[in-house]
Amino acid sequence: MSEHLTATAPLPLRPELIGKEPYGAPQLDVAVRLNTNENPHSPSAALADDIVAAVRDVVTDLNRYPDREATALRSSLADYLTATTGVAHTHADVWAANGSNEVLQQILHAFAGAGRTVLGFEPTYSMHHTIAESTGATYIAAPRDADYRIDAAAVVAAIERHRPDVTFVCTPNNPTGTSTPLETIEAIYDATEGIVVVDEAYIEFSTQPSAVHLLHGRRRLLVSRTMSKAFGFAGARVGYLAAAPEVVDALRLVRLPYHLSSLTQAIALAALRHRDELLATVDAVVGQRDRIARELSALGLTVAPTDANFVLFSAPDGDATGLWRRLVDAGVLIRDVGFADRLRVTAGTEAETTAFLAALRGLL
Ligand code: PMP
Repeated sequence: MSEHLTATAPLPLRPELIGKEPYGAPQLDVAVRLNTNENPHSPSAALADDIVAAVRDVVTDLNRYPDREATALRSSLADYLTATTGVAHTHADVWAANGSNEVLQQILHAFAGAGRTVLGFEPTYSMHHTIAESTGATYIAAPRDADYRIDAAAVVAAIERHRPDVTFVCTPNNPTGTSTPLETIEAIYDATEGIVVVDEAYIEFSTQPSAVHLLHGRRRLLVSRTMSKAFGFAGARVGYLAAAPEVVDALRLVRLPYHLSSLTQAIALAALRHRDELLATVDAVVGQRDRIARELSALGLTVAPTDANFVLFSAPDGDATGLWRRLVDAGVLIRDVGFADRLRVTAGTEAETTAFLAALRGLL
């Protein structure tokens, strides 16, 4: 895309987009892909059959628009949240969209935009920055401490200084794996008059409680979730949000009508009917994550403590890009997250993890 943007006379692009690169990890055809924090376990045959049957049921209605409110899907997501957190939810306080990226975009369209500011604690998920700017907002980066934690006192100071309209807390944090305790989230909420978005894309891999426990009485708190990671449903593009019903109403102002296709709604409902089976893969993934952390530490590499399904580790000689390239040449794709000296690897199946560790050992 970029080469077309520069090859001809410039298009009248919004000035702030000129020179920008589209977000995206390389999609390379290699044997072992551990670069986008997917769940390595594919849907079972029983789930695949249920998905096909669910699609079959809706295809004869594809001449009609989908349920604009996705009520059945939101109810099913609410049941899942209620069952796993003990905090009661209904469809009225749950919203759904095409991946949590779309949820985040809708949040920022509703609560950020031109003339507003968005605060994030870096390093963190770069789409928070990218989507904020794409709505016309100004993104402000506040630093995490040397262990990638959010220091509550420093954060409260940053909030008082910048008075952000939206503050992001990604927990567990991508790309570091660090969790933020609920007390820190409470302190952030109390320090701001703006929206606080807790991005819990990886929460099912964590031992920490979800921020949905804080929702009661906090109408500016939004908890964003996804089916792309623990549920192993990245290709289906389903993300969701738990928040006060008035927040859901606000997102309705900016969502495109019929944003979730009938097919997406039907297959997500099918997957949620199999949720116990899908989430049973979490233990295996966490086991491989812990194995990676253990074995990389034994190799003398620095490993950041992680609550997610990935591990951030130091590249020997501080040459992250060189090591990344040599691993690709060895058939293993991991993530160069833009740190000079660190790389991120997603926990794979046992065999994929073995292949990664063997390739790495061969290169050290
Ligand atoms: N939040 C975080 C922290 C992520 O790492 C990702 C995916 N990499 C997302 C949100 C978006 O995921 P999706 O749109 O697939 O739900």
